[in-house]
Formats: sequence, C-alpha cells, structure tokens
Amino acid sequence: MTILFVYNVKQQKVVDLMARLGSISNGGLTMSVNDFNAAQKWAKLAKDIQQLIVRNVFCADCGVTTIVKYTFHDDEYGILLKGKCKKCGRDMARLIEDK
Ligand SMILES: [Zn+2]
Repeated sequence: MTILFVYNVKQQKVVDLMARLGSISNGGLTMSVNDFNAAQKWAKLAKDIQQLIVRNVFCADCGVTTIVKYTFHDDEYGILLKGKCKKCGRDMARLIEDK
C-alpha cells in the first residue's frame, strides 16, 4: 500500500532551492541524492510535509513506520522515495505524486 501525496510544483529561485536542499540532511536521517530532478521536486515541498511523508511509510511487517537511508528517484508519476524501515530494516518505497 502506498499513500499518495499531491502537490503543485511551484517555480522557485535557484538560491532558495539550494538553501532548502542543504537543510534536507539535517534531522539525523542519513540521505544521499541519487536523482537531482527528484531532489529538486522534494526540496519544493514544505519541511513539515517532508517530515509527514518520511514518518508515514507503510512496512509490510511493522505497519506505518519511518523510512530511513532513503534516496530520491525521478518517477513518471512523481518522486519515488526508496529506503529502509527504521524498525526492521526491510526495503521500502513510497511514491509522492506530483501530477
Ligand atoms: Zn518494518
């Protein structure tokens, strides 16, 4: 089960975008940026929305849990977040729809 979030992509200045990208790595979660386009889309989301998404990913073993060590992948339907369950380490993914 994947919960979808819909958001509108807004035009933003590059400077603002880079400032937001720099702030993503805060908060104790390990992250690497694999796909710049996806990372750009992610950076345009409000920080509270980002946290809401990260903390509400469904694990087949644990139920709703937190995704850690996640990477961004540009998907046909939005941003695909791929990472691991914070509780059991199982691979998990979440799609954030942008259309
Ligand atoms: Zn789990």
